[in-house]
Amino acid sequence: MKIVRYIDRNGNTGYAAQQADGTCERIDGDIFGDFEATGDTVEIAKLLAPVVPPAILCIGLNYRKHAAETGAKLPDYPVVFHKSRNALLDPGEPIELPGFLPSEEVDYECELVVVIGKRCKNVSRDNAFDCILGYTCGNDVSARDWQKKKGGGQWSRGKSFDTFAPMGPCIVTPDEIPDPNKLPIRTVLNGKTVQESNTADMIFDVATLVEFLSGSTTLLPGTVIFTGTPEGVGMARTPPLWLQPGDSVTIAIEGIGELTNPVQKEKTG
Ligand code: ZN
Repeated sequence: MKIVRYIDRNGNTGYAAQQADGTCERIDGDIFGDFEATGDTVEIAKLLAPVVPPAILCIGLNYRKHAAETGAKLPDYPVVFHKSRNALLDPGEPIELPGFLPSEEVDYECELVVVIGKRCKNVSRDNAFDCILGYTCGNDVSARDWQKKKGGGQWSRGKSFDTFAPMGPCIVTPDEIPDPNKLPIRTVLNGKTVQESNTADMIFDVATLVEFLSGSTTLLPGTVIFTGTPEGVGMARTPPLWLQPGDSVTIAIEGIGELTNPVQKEKTG
């Protein structure tokens, strides 16, 4: 099932199941419990980020070729950091380049995002998929100056500005994605492909990440895991490629869909 969260023309928020022909059927129930598509067609006015997560966990340096392009050695354990929930952004809404606390080095990162489906702890690799509601696309937008030079040695500042966690367009359930580590993934900036890889290049695969992140740690329903980005980020290019006002950035993952956001400057007035 492809699950979307939406606002209809009357301003009501809900979940729906997107059909192959693009129409959407209202979902009854709790997507973190029992739910079903009702057969009632809904008129969607706007798509929302498919979940409002209680936590946004992220993994750094999780693709072999990306670790190589940054000059980092392969990590022995997953490199975990958190993004703030305030950074959540709906499909189609603008990524804002920070102006009040200015950044000149805002970058894109296409990522497969895992949505945890139920409260869980100490999950083994073998049982990891029982805890996953599904998968969506994410853009781990990163202000490299605040991440690398002005972040005090850790990454949260540069990764947590408002609008820095676009997610969507839908959650695809595991029955449609039997192996999340075999998915073509790319970023398209203004029509040009700038990242193109496959989730098979991950150092720590999805099941390993669920085992690691749930170790001695409760994961709540709706928690999302940004699983890292492949090579091709703007920071590693010569010259570097930073997001600019007027840009359009699309994250595309085969079997899930496309997440597109325009870029603008933060309005500070
Ligand atoms: Zn990332």
